[in-house]
Amino acid sequence: ERQRHIRNFSIVAHIDHGKSTLADRILEMTDTVSKREMQDQLLDTMDLERERGITIKLNAVELHYKAKDGETYIFHLIDTPGHVDFSYEVSRSLAACEGAVLVVDATQGVEAQTLANVYLALDDDLEILPVINKIDLPSAQPDKVKEQIENDIGLDASDADLISAKTGLGVDKVLEDIVNKIPAPDGDLEKPLKALIFDSVYDDYRGVVLSVRIKEGTVKPGDKILLMNSGAKYEVTEVGVNSPKPLKRDMLIAGDVGYITASIKDIQDTRVGDTVTNADNPTDEPLAGYREMSPMVYSGLYPTDNAKYNDLREALEKLKLNDAALEFEPETSQALGFGFRCGFLGLLHMDVIQERLEREFNLELITTAPSVTYDVELTDGSHVAVTNPAEMPETTMIKQINEPYVRAEIMVPNDYVGAVMELCQRKRGQFVTMEYLDDNRVNVIYQMPLAEIIFDFFDKLKSSTRGYASLDYELDGTQPSELAKIDILLNGDRVDALSFISHKEFAEKRARSIVEKLKKIIPRQNFEIPIQAAIGAKIIARTNIKAYRKDVTARIHTGDPDRRAKLLDKQKRGKKRMKALGKVEVPQQAFMAVLKTD
Ligand code: GDP
Ligand code: MG
Repeated sequence: ERQRHIRNFSIVAHIDHGKSTLADRILEMTDTVSKREMQDQLLDTMDLERERGITIKLNAVELHYKAKDGETYIFHLIDTPGHVDFSYEVSRSLAACEGAVLVVDATQGVEAQTLANVYLALDDDLEILPVINKIDLPSAQPDKVKEQIENDIGLDASDADLISAKTGLGVDKVLEDIVNKIPAPDGDLEKPLKALIFDSVYDDYRGVVLSVRIKEGTVKPGDKILLMNSGAKYEVTEVGVNSPKPLKRDMLIAGDVGYITASIKDIQDTRVGDTVTNADNPTDEPLAGYREMSPMVYSGLYPTDNAKYNDLREALEKLKLNDAALEFEPETSQALGFGFRCGFLGLLHMDVIQERLEREFNLELITTAPSVTYDVELTDGSHVAVTNPAEMPETTMIKQINEPYVRAEIMVPNDYVGAVMELCQRKRGQFVTMEYLDDNRVNVIYQMPLAEIIFDFFDKLKSSTRGYASLDYELDGTQPSELAKIDILLNGDRVDALSFISHKEFAEKRARSIVEKLKKIIPRQNFEIPIQAAIGAKIIARTNIKAYRKDVTARIHTGDPDRRAKLLDKQKRGKKRMKALGKVEVPQQAFMAVLKTD
């Protein structure tokens, strides 16, 4: 019977340890895609994923594997992202599975996201299969990594498969282990439908496509379904699986991972984590669903063309279907007009959302400087949550500002502990403890302001440890802090979208650094532009952008008219992503300048 032959599993790992490459080999070795169609990181279907070489979205595929026991098994494989900003995708994937293949790079060993992913898998009671990858590399140390897996994670690694996802070596053993060690799904086929929505996407023709794991019962076209959380009812138009292209099926049964369409045009009706059941014969209780994610960082998103405000709203609603962690609400800025304050899980997430909005929905956007949420206690005893620096109350009204802190775990080789501690200290970190993992590696734990972590901390950490440190963090309360709002004035006008919040100790230094940055970023005009930074009425830094004298095109030193035309065209396109603030043209980078200061 079909169910007994199903295996649902995710591939999880720290970033770059080889998940997507292993998924490629598995697709190839099960003849799911032909050699002709095969390309690297096949499941990374977004252009953005291919360009950046990272997985952003979970991806579920069905494939068929003929095992050594002579029987054919149905695998539902979910490839997941490794970056900390996308761990929400991982936790949703895992809830659809019975097992997880844990890939560990034999040259890097156990890293922060290796651990984080294992904990997620253990929360869901999954069977974890450790595999050690990249053993084709001369610097591979599989025995040492086995020891790390046992010591750091407490998983038995004695039978861990040693593989090269690149060459395919050992991958056949992984396939057999999936059959023999990961349990088949259970779930009664006779019971009413109970299916978990773990992802969704909006399709202009089919409406909302729901990615589901069927826990109980069956579903087929023509069935009347109920989305339990929203109460919406629909008739199923199509069910199927991705292989990796969508493939229609007559029916999905308990244990299957696939998709359902039902001409769902009302986006509000669907929510990741909701339970789908029969409308006429509903199941008694919905599934537990997912815990809500709270955004770590907020920024304003504004269309460069104010007329596109409604397009942006529609795009955000559609994108939220495919990215449940995205949050947004309308806001207005004096400088930028109507837009949205959006919440993200981190800066990479923010970057990805902006790019997807621009590419998939053809929008031109300005993103304002990111900010964390400050808990502001007013003199009257009330509290307000401030996610937009421009909305920070007047200093006279503030009793105390509390800023969010995180518990940061940094895994690093011994030699770099000094460098890591110095960096954490410089970023206002408070040392918590240090654990020696083995004779070469240390887990350094700090309490740090979230605002310091999300900006350039990760880059600095990588550069001060030659790439060896890995980082994981979780929110850990708030602490009172001496903070100040710094306003930027261009040509004498305060630009609300450029305001930012800084610790008082760094305020002057950052203000000076920002005005210098802006001076470089903002193009010269035919008049002089003063740039000032102020706390309240007090100017703490200033500079001027000199007026230009000559025609801009005169700066293009080329006689070739073709090349000249191309360069001018480039300049024009660059100009599109600028915003006229008063008489001053300000490019997008200006709003991010605050990220690039010390
Ligand atoms: P992911 O971030 O976990 O999905 O990692 P990828 O599958 O994108 O792989 C990251 C990098 O490691 C890519 O450049 C791969 O080509 C490389 N890689 C993956 N597996 C192997 C392997 O077994 N051997 C070698 N030498 N390189 C590998
Ligand atoms: Mg990947």
